[in-house]
Order: sequence, then C-alpha cells, then structure tokens
Amino acid sequence: MSETIRQKMFAEMAKKEIFELAKTCAIEYADKALERNVFPHDQAIAQLRQFEEPLPDTSSDAVAVIEHLHNYGSPASVSQIGGRYFGLVNGGVIPVSLAARWLSDFWDQNTPLYLSSPIASKLEEIVEDWLRDLLGLPQNVVAGFVSGSSMAIFCGLAAARYRVYQNLGWDVNQKGLNGAPEIRVITSQHAHATVIKAISLLGLGIDSIEWVAVDNQGRIQCENIPTLDQNCIVLLQAGNVNSGTFDDFESICEQANVAGAWVHIDGAFGLWAAACKDLEYLTSGIEKANSWSVDGHKTLNTPYDNGVVLCNDREALVQALHATGSYIVYSDHRDGMLYTPEMSRRARVIELWATMKYLGKSGISDLVSGLHERAQQFADELSQANFEILNDIVFNQILVKVGDADETAAIVNHIQQSGECWVGAAQWFEQTVIRVSVCSWATTEVDVTRSVNAFVGARNAQ
Ligand SMILES: *Cc1c(COP(=O)(O)O)cnc(C)c1O
Repeated sequence: MSETIRQKMFAEMAKKEIFELAKTCAIEYADKALERNVFPHDQAIAQLRQFEEPLPDTSSDAVAVIEHLHNYGSPASVSQIGGRYFGLVNGGVIPVSLAARWLSDFWDQNTPLYLSSPIASKLEEIVEDWLRDLLGLPQNVVAGFVSGSSMAIFCGLAAARYRVYQNLGWDVNQKGLNGAPEIRVITSQHAHATVIKAISLLGLGIDSIEWVAVDNQGRIQCENIPTLDQNCIVLLQAGNVNSGTFDDFESICEQANVAGAWVHIDGAFGLWAAACKDLEYLTSGIEKANSWSVDGHKTLNTPYDNGVVLCNDREALVQALHATGSYIVYSDHRDGMLYTPEMSRRARVIELWATMKYLGKSGISDLVSGLHERAQQFADELSQANFEILNDIVFNQILVKVGDADETAAIVNHIQQSGECWVGAAQWFEQTVIRVSVCSWATTEVDVTRSVNAFVGARNAQ
C-alpha cells in the first residue's frame, strides 16, 4: 500500500470526520424515513445510475464516498424502519440493537475462535443459555450463530444427516453420498423454499422427499405422515411463511422420538412464539425435536444477518461442520466456528445479546404479542372493509383474497405505488392472494389503519 493512502487513512481515523458525517446522515435518514414513501420513488430509483462508473483508477476522498452513498443510496432504500413494510417477513430494528452494532463495528471482531475474540465467545455462551431458557429447550442444546435461517436450516439438516448415517454405520464425512444407505426425508407440501434448498445442497435430493399433505391452514396432516423409522429426517415448521400456522409438534415429535427419527423445526419467525405467554401454546412440544432454526432479524427485530441453529446433539452438529488446521487452535472456552459452516464471521451475537438484555423476558413476550395484535387488527379492519381473509390469524400473517391473478396484481401494484405501505402477492393453494406480514415493533395501530385505507383506495381505483 502506498504511504500516501496509509497516511490518509490514519488521518481519517484520527479526525473521525467521516464517522461524524455517517452519523449525521444516518440520523437525517431516520427522521425522514418514517414519513416518506415506503418503496422509493421512481426518481430515486433512476438516480441509482449515479453508481454506474468504472472502478476508479485512484483513491478518492472518503467524505465524498460517504456523501455519494447518502445522496443516492439513502433515497433508494426501502423504508424498513417506518413500520409499514409488510412484504416477506421483515423485522424492524430495535434501536439499542442497532446502536450495539454500531459500537461493535468499531471492534471489527472475527469470531471463529475464543482466541480471535473473547468477548464474542463470551456473548455466544451467554446468548446460547438465554435462548434455551427463553424457548424452553433442554440443557444439552447448543447454538450456532449464522447469517439467517437459510444457513441455520442447512446446519440443522447437516447435523441430522451426519447422525442418521452414523446410526446406519456410515460415516458421511469420510465416505460421502456415493453408495450410502438410503435415508428418508419427510416434509410438508408447504415447506419453505430454503428447506428444499438445504435438502438439495446436502445431496439428499428433492426426489427423495416424502411429501405430506397439509390442511387448509397449511399445517401438516398428522394422519398422513408415513410410518417413521430411524432412517428418517422430518422437517416441520413453526410459522408457515404465508399463513403463519404451526405444525402439531407434540404428536409428530412423539411419533418420531419413538421411531428414532430426527426432527428439525424451521422456526424462522415463529419459534419466538415460545417466548410469548399468550402464544406459547403454538409451540407446544418443540422441546422434543432434535434441531431448530430461528432468525433474530425477523420477530426479534435485530439488524439483518442474524440467524441461529440450535441442536440437542452437539457431537452431530460439530462433526457435520468440523474443520481442522495447524493454525486453528481450539480452546477450553467456546469456539464459535465449531457450530457454524463459516470460519471468519462478524460478531453478530452482539445484537442478539443487546436486544435480549434490553427487552428481557417480558419485553420479548410483549414484542411478539404486539405483532399478533397488529395482525389481528389488520385482518379485522380489512374484513370490516369487505375484504376476504383466507387464514386464521394465529400469529402475524394475513392472506387477503381480492380477485383473480390479474385483479390481485393490479391492486398490489396500486398499493405499492401509493407509497403508503408495501405488500406483495403470493399463491395460496390454487389462489392468488395478497400476503401481509406484520413483523416490526414500529408498526402502530395508526399504521395499520392507514395501510387498510391504502387497500380500500386501491380497490376503488380499479
Ligand atoms: C425467512 C424464512 C426462512 C429463510 O430465512 P432467512 O433468514 O431469510 O435465510 C426460512 N423459513 C421460513 C419459514 C422463513 O420465514
């Protein structure tokens, strides 16, 4: 590196001007984002062309880099912090978790080993324990802190694959899948796309899935589960991504436990129901599963890049994700990379810790029940305005029928263009529906009424 650039960077660190500037821009953003269009204006999108340039030949001014990002990037972002984005299952961000992230960004920790970050190792240990307690999981459960549920499902399934093959006398790490004994994968017709992805990534093969039919709410029909044995991996869900419903863990896990089958629960947003006194009945029986996946960045409202895999078979998880090398020095403390596919990893546990410490058990319970109450209000007001709701509002998801595929697309488009809120379309059985996911702490009663009005305005405009 040239001395001039190094000098420049030392000066930037010393003067802190760019950090002050970033803070000013962020605060200006936060103030505006509450009231502006939820999805950026066409003009803001058009201005994204300001980023189109060849890679610069030489180093430029750091202040100008941050200003460019703020001037053209901020207006083209989706107003996620405003509480009226109801697409996907997107959590908002709890202020203290964002602030904790800012601080820890300065630490720039890498978290594979205790020796690379004692603080991250400590917080992973603490949060692992808090999660067991909060979700009512057994003491032998371990946690891996990964990017999101896609990766958490992958890890849970990797542990399952390791254990099931091991039980059949096959070491999948050494021998791979060629010539391996057959194992069976059982999941619902409504399994999330990332469950299917994990099945294919792990070489189990989509064709090997034994699909189980669901009821009209998207729950597995227990009576249609095939006879299980110890060659089986069963994937259940806590929170159907469209309807928000939960499988019957009590009865399915019992069958699986008796048969010696492995159960993984995809609880990306729904597993948090276990932390809510009004809704924990939905997760009854989850403690009988073998592995679970859950997101901080959904229901718990941490910043993005916050998923957790939980597993009651430490050996299987660690063996499935193991890595060795002469420079990898494991310790007597917690070494995070034992539980994750990645080696280098940011210290994402910090935001989980800050959020859980700040909210406490009652705060988390209130956060989760608040999302459910706003979803119920949304559904009630839509019904009063003569919209048809297709699902029971058990958690935070609402499915609205407004017509055929074309009519739905027109109404969705009108709502999105209004800038008042953002919702998307989905397929629910044979029908096209509007899908609403209430997942941000920032969504108020007023936001819901305002969003329902956007639905009414869009229908009237047809
Ligand atoms: C969001 C979601 C996932 C995927 O999680 P990511 O954190 O986006 O990787 C998996 N399953 C369900 C039910 C989800 O809602």
